[in-house]
Amino acid sequence: MLRLKNVTRHFAGRPAVRDFTQEINAASTTVLLGPSGCGKSTILRLIIGLLEADSGEIYFQDSLISQANVADLRPRIGYVIQDGGLFPHLSAKSNVSLMARHLNWDTDRINARLEGLSRLVHLPLDLLDRFPSELSGGQRQRVSLMRALMLDPDLLLLDEPLAALDPMIRYELQQDLKGIFKEMHKTVVLVTHDIAEAAYLGDDILLMRAGRLVQRGSMQALLEAPAEPFVEQFIRAQRDPAKAIAKAPAKGMGESL
Ligand code: ADP
Ligand code: MG
Repeated sequence: MLRLKNVTRHFAGRPAVRDFTQEINAASTTVLLGPSGCGKSTILRLIIGLLEADSGEIYFQDSLISQANVADLRPRIGYVIQDGGLFPHLSAKSNVSLMARHLNWDTDRINARLEGLSRLVHLPLDLLDRFPSELSGGQRQRVSLMRALMLDPDLLLLDEPLAALDPMIRYELQQDLKGIFKEMHKTVVLVTHDIAEAAYLGDDILLMRAGRLVQRGSMQALLEAPAEPFVEQFIRAQRDPAKAIAKAPAKGMGESL
């Protein structure tokens, strides 16, 4: 479905993603997990063509992604970022239907899709008349998800979609997302730094550090057979945050480790 082969990307001479080779399975949820700065978002941006790799290749459904075909592939990939990225001057409905209008879908088709999606993401249809600033953070992310799904993409990329939400809303949306993933049966790549979220939503977890894969598998495999001490450290730091803070080096667990 999606294949990254020896992908490397630097920023200002520093590697953000290093020689990354992995395949993402179709019709399942793959989680990119790891500390801040380890290259998770860069991988999603490379997949969606917002960034170009310095070297290596990315194949989406057997097509090599290039600057020449990225615009054609783009409608087949949905993308949600942490703050939703909705246009503030457009109503939620206009945000969701923007691309469909651009592709000349007729009004009946757009409305039918809006109704279906509003049921799927549990957002009352009448809220779509509001502007993003008139919605709560959780509602905005439901709208962002609707927008990402509007064209029925083959691949859904979610970059920490719940990270900015307060814990109760986050918990609710995690449960809803699980149901949505199951119902849609789509290929999903979810970025998070939260191990509980990764364990709950991920069929397959790719734990990263400093631009590289450290270990791939289920959360149980990561817990029971950590590939290196970092795996245990990363998991323990979230299980017992107070202890981790007391022990943490001044720079934390970022890319410098
Ligand atoms: P993550 O999403 O895992 O937190 P990122 O992929 O955003 O990490 O970043 C990986 C590394 O690349 C970090 O060191 C970050 O500072 C750097 N980086 C990411 N995007 C840019 C950019 N546009 N310009 C410069 N450096 C960047
Ligand atoms: Mg990120």
